[in-house]
Amino acid sequence: MNTTWECCALTDCPWCSRDDLPCHHCDGTGRWAPMQPVKVDEGAVRWQRIADTCRMCTGTGKEHGYIPVSL
Ligand SMILES: [Zn+2]
Ligand SMILES: [Zn+2]
Repeated sequence: MNTTWECCALTDCPWCSRDDLPCHHCDGTGRWAPMQPVKVDEGAVRWQRIADTCRMCTGTGKEHGYIPVSL
């Protein structure tokens, strides 16, 4: 299974190499905190805020959103 931005594992990601576009999903922090449902009991769900790496920029904090980069 390929991740969308697996190019970021390389040193020449065209998105990571620029500094003028902060990721609009995480405001350049590289982190996001979505709400995720957690099942606490039978039929009961609690919403919990989880901290995760921003998936749009893979934690780089840089915009990766406009054009899919294919190698
Ligand atoms: Zn990148
Ligand atoms: Zn981001």
